[in-house]
Amino acid sequence: MFDIEKIRADFPILEREIYGRRLVYLDNAATTQKPSCVISKIRDVYEQYNSNIHRSVSRLASICTDEYENARKTVSGFINAKSTNEIVFTSGTTAAINLLAFTFGEKFVNGGDEIVVCESEHHSNIVPWQLMCERKNAVLKVLPFDDSGDLKTELLDGLLTERTRLLCVAQATNVLGTVNPLDIIVKKAHEKGVYVLVDGAQGIQHVKTDVTASDFDFYVFSGHKIYAPTGIGILYGKEHLLEQLPPWQGGGDMVNRVSFAKTTYSGLPLKFEAGTSNYVGATGLGEALNYLISTGLDQIHSYEKELTNYALARISSIPQLTVYGTSANKVGIASFLVEGIHHADMGEILDKMGIAVRTGRMCAEPAIHHFGLTGLVRASWTFYNTKQEIDSLCEGIEKAKKLFF
Ligand code: PMP
Repeated sequence: MFDIEKIRADFPILEREIYGRRLVYLDNAATTQKPSCVISKIRDVYEQYNSNIHRSVSRLASICTDEYENARKTVSGFINAKSTNEIVFTSGTTAAINLLAFTFGEKFVNGGDEIVVCESEHHSNIVPWQLMCERKNAVLKVLPFDDSGDLKTELLDGLLTERTRLLCVAQATNVLGTVNPLDIIVKKAHEKGVYVLVDGAQGIQHVKTDVTASDFDFYVFSGHKIYAPTGIGILYGKEHLLEQLPPWQGGGDMVNRVSFAKTTYSGLPLKFEAGTSNYVGATGLGEALNYLISTGLDQIHSYEKELTNYALARISSIPQLTVYGTSANKVGIASFLVEGIHHADMGEILDKMGIAVRTGRMCAEPAIHHFGLTGLVRASWTFYNTKQEIDSLCEGIEKAKKLFF
């Protein structure tokens, strides 16, 4: 079944010490650690077959191209896309949303049209839409959340109008950890003819994702948050929608024929992959997803659920500590403050005990402002963390309190 010691042994960094203590890594929402198989895969590419993809006829280039396209198949299967044409490699979630904001804006948005984003979104699912709205003279509208961190979906009926073109929502939020009710949201949006973009940066690694069954129009995520290398990410889009979008960046690989009179473009998905892609990162992403599949997604998710129940109960029972985000449906995130201790001080003290957490605004200022705060401490865990590590965090918080009071 789920052998946590075996899992931990797959992640070499978990062995290391920080200030003489075993690392307790609880900053997984910022980025995840990498299993040995992903690290070896990257090494293999550079040692065995590194060559630019989709270009040369060499044996090396054909191996590298196959690895890249196999990774695309793996991603497509992992999220159950209908075709690999629907899977575009980008450098991450941010790049994927910017690509979409530009191209969707060009194709579907006119002056006076509306885009809806949620109050709890990460900046990368707010700012690209603000930029696009400025460019197209469109209107940005906001779906608020309540004090437990749940979106007020009952407001959607009034918020979505015949001018709304797109609704942008996270699968799970990075500050509050809420898993948003996408079934309700997608249904309400589609009833009004509104397309939906789901930001999966905090969801894909914790929640089984089926873009076809869930009827998402667009879905994005980052490799580095799902045990893969940095610098690689995915834009999924329904094929008939991606086909209608214009190219974004111009350059090699995204063209069919080039002349000064007229240039024609590649078909999907290469139309959106200008220049040398991060084929090493893509190969690493394929390896990471295969690692998760072979470990067992159901086992991973049920272990995480158990750990989350334990952690949230344990952390919220600490006196003078408030957890922000108390939705009944959360991923492994606890953002909190201890009365009288600044979030940055708490982060530094925990770090000296070898405990890595995130502090500050966490790239989601509107969510932090909702509570009238300037920042929070965020602990975020995943399937290689243990109850003992949650205990260490709680002991660390208690020690910090003693230092201050
Ligand atoms: N959306 C959410 C919900 C996130 O948590 C993050 C990363 N913190 C992003 C988008 C941006 O991801 P990246 O920095 O990998 O592009």
